[in-house]
Amino acid sequence: MTAPFTTRFAPSPTGLLHRGHAFSALTAHDAARAAGGRSLLRIEDIDATRCRPAFETAIYGDLAWLGLEWEQPVRRQSEHLTEYQAAIERLAERGLLYRCFRTRKEIAEAIASAPHGTMDTWRGSPLPSDQEARRLAAGEAFAWRLSLDAALAQAGPLTFTEEGSGPNGETGLIPARPELGGDVVLARRDVGVAYHLAVTLDDALQGVTHVIRGEDLFEATHVQRLLQALLDLPTPVYRHHRLLTGPDGKRYAKRDHAQTLAELRTAGVTPQQLRAEMGL
Ligand code: GLU
Repeated sequence: MTAPFTTRFAPSPTGLLHRGHAFSALTAHDAARAAGGRSLLRIEDIDATRCRPAFETAIYGDLAWLGLEWEQPVRRQSEHLTEYQAAIERLAERGLLYRCFRTRKEIAEAIASAPHGTMDTWRGSPLPSDQEARRLAAGEAFAWRLSLDAALAQAGPLTFTEEGSGPNGETGLIPARPELGGDVVLARRDVGVAYHLAVTLDDALQGVTHVIRGEDLFEATHVQRLLQALLDLPTPVYRHHRLLTGPDGKRYAKRDHAQTLAELRTAGVTPQQLRAEMGL
């Protein structure tokens, strides 16, 4: 039996939802309805320093206002930290991760003095074992980074299926280029897990067959495809969608103070108007 079409909307409760989120949520929901499948909601709240319960409550209210329904219980990533930890340990035992003691500031300095790579494509290296032992004994915090070389050697060439399109029109069978992410952090020094690992595991655990999300996450897919191979998880089909842009031609983003759904609702805009405006 093939798995039923299952997709998800996975917001982080770090602010109020805006039009861009509504577009993602509605696109995923409509696709599930058209396929007679399931549409899940997942709260991506691993970053306790930025997530707020009030934003999570607002997410439920905004989605209900949009006319969306979702299955209970909702998966909240903060309730599954030990599962992520177990996956990190599995990868570390296989020599696919190394401890990185550098702070973001130190990495920025290293990049500035040897100008190749960026913060997002950083390739580090493990410390010599005596130094590492010393810093561990001193109780210094560290992040777990994926050793891209070891991971690529183990996984070999990979592909994924794109039914939407990436930012440059990429579609169809796409060769995965995990090197776009460098030696990606899988466990942050502060919260013990990081975005790519939590998302990859959760999509598999929740039986997600179709990942529907904005094309800003297209590059993330290349990294997540590699993690699927390393963790022996199934690969969903991807449908990246265009990003909504505001009247100024720029994409909606929390940091630009895009009008929130709550503000639109207060101003008397209806979900039907919003759908029409988005071409949905
Ligand atoms: N939580 C992520 C965000 O808010 C989305 C993750 C995903 O769709 O894979 O952007």
